[in-house]
Amino acid sequence: MTTENVAAPINPWAVAQQQFDLAAEKLHLDEGMRRVLREPRRELTVHFPVKMDDGSVKVFTGYRVQHNLGRGPAKGGIRYHQDVSLDEVKALAMWMTWKCAVVGIPYGGGKGGVIVDPKKLSMKELEALTRRFFTEIEVLVGPEKDIPAPDVNTNGQIMAWMMDTYSMHMGYTVPGVVTGKPISLGGSEGRNEATARGTVYCIVEAARHLGIELDKAKVAIQGFGNAGSIAATLITAEKATVVAVSDSTGGIHNPNGLDVARVIQWKQEHGTVQGFPGSKDITNAQVLEVECDILIPAALENQITEKNAGKVKAKLIAEAANGPTTPEADEIFWKAGKFMIPDILCNAGGVTVSYFEWVQDLNRDHWSEQVVNEKLKGIMVKAFQETLAISRREKIYMRTAAYLLAVQRVAEATQLRGLYP
Ligand code: GLU
Repeated sequence: MTTENVAAPINPWAVAQQQFDLAAEKLHLDEGMRRVLREPRRELTVHFPVKMDDGSVKVFTGYRVQHNLGRGPAKGGIRYHQDVSLDEVKALAMWMTWKCAVVGIPYGGGKGGVIVDPKKLSMKELEALTRRFFTEIEVLVGPEKDIPAPDVNTNGQIMAWMMDTYSMHMGYTVPGVVTGKPISLGGSEGRNEATARGTVYCIVEAARHLGIELDKAKVAIQGFGNAGSIAATLITAEKATVVAVSDSTGGIHNPNGLDVARVIQWKQEHGTVQGFPGSKDITNAQVLEVECDILIPAALENQITEKNAGKVKAKLIAEAANGPTTPEADEIFWKAGKFMIPDILCNAGGVTVSYFEWVQDLNRDHWSEQVVNEKLKGIMVKAFQETLAISRREKIYMRTAAYLLAVQRVAEATQLRGLYP
């Protein structure tokens, strides 16, 4: 995923805890259970050396956090970004716990990150950083314990190096230790597109519910990495018109529609979407505010706050990113009658196909893309409809409904397992 380099003054961990508290309150969750679920189970900070191409040695800082292991091994990506912090990784780990519970896959939540701008590293440096970081977090990871995956600025090649590093240490090949691998190394068909595909399945359901005709709908997308660019392609296949997109360098707008395939090619050639012929350059923030029916935030946290939520024109917001909307902005959307597909539901397609990949790896199996997409659709549509039913029954915002569903499932598992010792 391409990201936006803006200093985020809002602490994502405070946001994550605030969202949890709201759900715990509505569920009348027992005080002790609240204390347990409110904190991460494990937080590992590592500082590790990497030999740079010029012969110098640099020390990088990285994290792996396991928020909850109640329903299964920890699951969640590893991001490489200059703004990574422990609090960000904690928030992302907690969101993974709820995400896996919303779609009902047998995982807890984890996340990792390294403070680095990978665009400034050579391939050799990137590989060395990846192998050493993975070695440092090996005390936590393993196919039965904690299974990383791609996230912001990480990809199949990086997963391949991680899998190889772990396998070298074990003395045999362990494909199930990470997901999002290339197909030739035990990756799953459809994993690369899965986050965006899950988002689009949710949008199709939401549009039907709201009476939005997709062939007449205009879409704006913030972020043009794995989630954003593939969502642009898939929503175009649903006959919607993409009118604005952005990446970390800025955005472009054409009210009559952008040719998505050509924008993707343009970005490959120029390293930015800006300057695309026939479109007007706009800022990354302006993409959120253009005239459109559907807004897909697909970049980083805290992009929609109390400052700009009132300027969002879209009536449907589909969070392909993790944590793009603050609780204050949620309040504004709810009062304005906007329909939210929250991150823990909307972008759960990625981890769902990661789960399929892990199952295939453990069984030495390989499923067709058709099988993967059908299973993914079944899970996403079910989770969407379950969340919508709670939201309608309780007359609550979709994010709160998704949290009720998720927290209830995790709390039940925790309750049944009981307290050790
Ligand atoms: N990084 C993705 C997410 O935030 C995928 C995680 C996974 O596949 O484990 O959901």
